[in-house]
Amino acid sequence: MDYYGNQIGKLIQELSRLPGIGTKTAQRLAFHIINMPMEQAERLSTSIIEAKKNVKYCSKCCTLTDSELCPICSSTKRNSDTIMVVEDSRDMAAYEKTKQYKGVYHILQGAISPMLGIGPSDLKIKELLSRLSSDNINEVILATNSTVEGEATAMYLSKLIKPLEIKVTRIANGVPIGGDLEYVDEITLSRALEGRIEL
Ligand code: ZN
Repeated sequence: MDYYGNQIGKLIQELSRLPGIGTKTAQRLAFHIINMPMEQAERLSTSIIEAKKNVKYCSKCCTLTDSELCPICSSTKRNSDTIMVVEDSRDMAAYEKTKQYKGVYHILQGAISPMLGIGPSDLKIKELLSRLSSDNINEVILATNSTVEGEATAMYLSKLIKPLEIKVTRIANGVPIGGDLEYVDEITLSRALEGRIEL
């Protein structure tokens, strides 16, 4: 890539490190950035740095946010005695779109996957257990995906939570097997939530 010169070569290299960006796309993006008005390029680089500096995990539910508590955890209108456990923030967003759920969430930041080398200690499980022991919780809804990993994670969590004498439920089979929650429509999600079964 030397024929591009050092600076643009570096930019292409950095861009091609992003997930889903091959060398061709990285080149296209690099040239696009070079041709941007200076202000736009500055906005892009500042927003990357600012997000990187200020975005952190909510101290309660572990979603990504830019304050100590996310808007849902800090809302007085939510029932903080019901926690829905999801794999990532996109799943939370999908449930929020249904406008049916009034409880709070816990975001695991993934699912147990021996194939990918992701074990329980790589997920926000410790944080969930500490919430369960310190807050007054009536029900934990396990809403991990219906994939092998999601099911294994739900099983693992139910075994951990049941001895604490907290009601544990699993969302119904309305969510298609292998389905990524993010792509399931709102009606299906509402039904899955309504039809949840106690474990
Ligand atoms: Zn939160």
